[in-house]
Amino acid sequence: MPEMPEVQGLTLFLGERAVGRTITRTSVAAIAALKTYDPPITALHGAEITKATRLGKFVVLSCGDELHLVFHLAKAGWLRWYDTLPATLIKPGKTPIALRVALDDGSGFDLTEAGTKKSLAVSVVRDPHEVPGIARLGPDPLDESFTRDTFAALLDGRRTQIKGLLRDQAVIAGIGNAYSDEILHAARMSPYAIAATLTDADIDRLFASMQQTLTEAVAEASGKPPADLKDAKRRGMQVHARRGEACPVCGDTVRSVFFADRSLEYCPTCQTNGKPLADRRLSRLLR
Ligand SMILES: [Zn+2]
Repeated sequence: MPEMPEVQGLTLFLGERAVGRTITRTSVAAIAALKTYDPPITALHGAEITKATRLGKFVVLSCGDELHLVFHLAKAGWLRWYDTLPATLIKPGKTPIALRVALDDGSGFDLTEAGTKKSLAVSVVRDPHEVPGIARLGPDPLDESFTRDTFAALLDGRRTQIKGLLRDQAVIAGIGNAYSDEILHAARMSPYAIAATLTDADIDRLFASMQQTLTEAVAEASGKPPADLKDAKRRGMQVHARRGEACPVCGDTVRSVFFADRSLEYCPTCQTNGKPLADRRLSRLLR
């Protein structure tokens, strides 16, 4: 799943390539991906893209102040850019393409989604905050106004595991399963630590790790074309999706905890005093 750094990379790329261009045509191949009907998507035809913005893990392509194409790539969605958009017709139901957008210089892009569980979401709105996922977003951790004390206030009193809290878009915008693993590894903190019980020193360390991990990943993603962003993300990971490999910090073996639809990775030596974490939901089934 693309998270804040990849979405930021996509947004910067679209800022360079799509802003200033006029949308000539849109083709919706996966009707379920289009979540709105007013304004109709045809309202975009003939509209000039004036701005590309990231809000959490959403991309907002604005055509002036009152017309916005908003998309969220979800778990298996991606953007494929074409300097010359293919002229072939897309056949609904027989393609990973959910939406095709054609621009006036012959370029354009597809939003694609792999797999059978479809959750890529496209909205055409007069105000980005009409999109429920955007209205719910917590503050952005790389926003200048997001300080260590902002972070401490978000953690205060929450009796939830820190891993889940970092991924909760209503608490903090933009972090998903991969970067929460990386942030917790950098902070040498257990994913199961309870937010409300963190000490001031824990919060200092976690905040610094969050800022550094995200800032570095955004720098890595900036200036890369969409096709290179997934590999760049994978290369930067120390523990996420690296089960069985050696932790680059201490050499211990990276371990996983499995959930129904995902896993988390961590280093026991760096994060849990050497103790493997119990897989509370599935461990009995996996044996
Ligand atoms: Zn380690």
